[in-house]
Amino acid sequence: MSILHSLAPSALSEETANPYPHLLAPLDLGGVTLRNRTVMGSMHTGLETLPDRFEQLAAFYAARAQGGVGLIVTGGVGVNAQALGAAGPDESLHAADLDGHRLVTRTIHDAGAKVLLQALHIGRYDHGGGVAPSAIRSPIGRAVPHELSGAQIEALIDDYARCATLAAQAGYDGVEVMGSEGYLINQFIAPRTNRRNDAWGGSFERRIRFALEIVRRIRRASDEHFMVMFRLSMLDLVEDGSTRQEVIALAQALEAAGVTLINTGIGWHEARVPTIATCVPRGAFAGFTRHVRDAVSVPVVAANRINTPAVAEAILARGDADLVSMARPLLADPDFVAKATAHRADEINTCIACNQACLDHTFSARRVSCLVNPFAAHERDLPLAAAARRARVAVVGAGPAGLACAVTAARRGYAVTLFEAAPRIGGQFNLACRIPGKEEFRETLRYFQRQLELTGVSVKLARRARADDLEDFDHVVLATGVVPRAPSFEGLDHPSVVSYAEAITGAKAIGQRVAIVGAGGIGFDVAELLTHPATAGDTITDYFAQWGVDASGATRGGLAAAHAATCADAPAREVWLLQRKPGAAGAGLAVTTGWIRRSVVKQRGLHSMTGVEYVRVDDNGLHLRVDGKARVLAVDHVVLCTGQESRRDLLAPLAARGIEPIVIGGADVAAEIDAKRAIDQGTRVALGLA
Ligand code: NAP
Ligand code: SF4
Repeated sequence: MSILHSLAPSALSEETANPYPHLLAPLDLGGVTLRNRTVMGSMHTGLETLPDRFEQLAAFYAARAQGGVGLIVTGGVGVNAQALGAAGPDESLHAADLDGHRLVTRTIHDAGAKVLLQALHIGRYDHGGGVAPSAIRSPIGRAVPHELSGAQIEALIDDYARCATLAAQAGYDGVEVMGSEGYLINQFIAPRTNRRNDAWGGSFERRIRFALEIVRRIRRASDEHFMVMFRLSMLDLVEDGSTRQEVIALAQALEAAGVTLINTGIGWHEARVPTIATCVPRGAFAGFTRHVRDAVSVPVVAANRINTPAVAEAILARGDADLVSMARPLLADPDFVAKATAHRADEINTCIACNQACLDHTFSARRVSCLVNPFAAHERDLPLAAAARRARVAVVGAGPAGLACAVTAARRGYAVTLFEAAPRIGGQFNLACRIPGKEEFRETLRYFQRQLELTGVSVKLARRARADDLEDFDHVVLATGVVPRAPSFEGLDHPSVVSYAEAITGAKAIGQRVAIVGAGGIGFDVAELLTHPATAGDTITDYFAQWGVDASGATRGGLAAAHAATCADAPAREVWLLQRKPGAAGAGLAVTTGWIRRSVVKQRGLHSMTGVEYVRVDDNGLHLRVDGKARVLAVDHVVLCTGQESRRDLLAPLAARGIEPIVIGGADVAAEIDAKRAIDQGTRVALGLA
């Protein structure tokens, strides 16, 4: 156990005023002190290529630094002009840009945090093929990479060192060397991608030489207080990845080479095991970090699905790590640490790990933001200006759109009344919370409930607003949501036909043979719910078993031999998931999570049928036509998941009174009703109120 480890805050834990004694304890790194154990992990925001990028980045990071985070890691910065993709923009560090970077680092330092620049080379993840230790195409790549020569490898190591030198000149406190997620350095480390037989491949010692030379050369080029954090792949989750012994041996070699901290990476981008989605149990991978922490003296950072102060505190208190990294949770709430410190954890806007506004945006080259916090990465263009006068605002409907609008308007100083026909807030979110693996969505409702209290919104539950109720307001916002769309085949009044809401809430008991009509987001949700085993996925062990993660350390890459689901106790249901469109079911689901949902459908043995024509429902079941042939599915229930239509029944009576409401969320556009659009629109409408 190191001196640094022995500084773990046992004394502070007796400080009853400190709600999270391990998390909030400072960390002395010998010359540099972090004010607490929180790290904002690296995220590419999309701000990096804007014309006013430095001002945007400074505002983005300033909000997080002012919110109390200890250490920030920037989004990946190319170690040379091609490092993030030869065809893309040059996102490397240039001497001409140092003043811009100084604005960022100064702003962060003024708010009391430290900042590392992440030095990144993506290697064979370049869509054009890029460069790699060996000419082996990635399963998610489009082209075979160019095999680096020895001279090119030497030049690349110099690029890392030059990047670190410039980072120091720009005021960064250090660099994070990105050595995980299957990027270039990881490609050298693993036999999966390194088939060389020269000084840079073959034996383990030669495969890790690239990583170690980079650290040594950065160390030689920097002063002793310059931090070097290495993001180490603790678990590759791909075949022919590193063994646990290799991960530990590399961590020890990195320590000897001079790293200050070791951060955790879990899973390559091409891995087929979910590592950060909402279905991954909180803190699931901290145990892997523990194996490294036990073997080195430098502080070690845990990562992945750590989204509350309590989860973070538990990881540190257990001794799994010395710090915790949270990237998305600090998108969701820049004041995460300040609220935790002030005993206001119940006010934290918790990341629900949906990926919808962050990683899904990154993978489609859009600016990231956050589903639950549309201000994220829009700090400069969404100012929260105080209302000019305390005008009265009525918001009708307490789903995500209405909640966001009501709370934002109240924060600006408006007198807001929120009408909700149901006895509770949340709208369609109440259904999402009931889907196994989406329990996190409850956190958003908890957050909004607390914000309604704090901002003094007058909430009228179980009150379906009529036009008369809305006459005395200066602004009326309709967030009345959606009604399920009724398909047009015969037999919809048959007792076996149920709505998705009835299936999800349990209002109707569902039988053993079920046809799900509609394979959109909700069709997949219903499929998940109806086939969910009693235990699988509910605990970390079950989760690992379901997805084939070997926690014993016995296998390369940490993959269990079989990628089998533990479905022994699954409900004995036979389920058909149906859609009219040809092609794969669920093809339109989100980039970063759709593959997980399609995998689950496969694991559970559901019958997926596309290109179907619905004919009718009767006592024999659901009659279909597939490829021109008639077929009957003898099912007990037919669950309609056929999308929604806008509910706008207040529009006409309001118009009759001369009231022109603002319509938002599903009431505005049902075709794409999702919480990201709803919360964003509700927030922006509230910001635009005069
Ligand atoms: P959806 O994604 O639009 O899917 C509706 C499904 O019903 C489609 O598969 C459609 O496919 C079918 N359909 C539409 N009209 C039909 C008709 N008249 N007769 C028969 N079938 C019909 O809608 P949703 O599943 O209700 O989801 C609503 C929104 O919630 C989505 O925009 C989604 O973003 C969001 N959501 C997201 C998630 C998620 O995991 N990210 C989960 C749940 C909901 P065919 O026309 O080809 O049959
Ligand atoms: Fe978390 Fe979803 Fe926000 Fe991304 S979009 S930070 S996953 S809540």
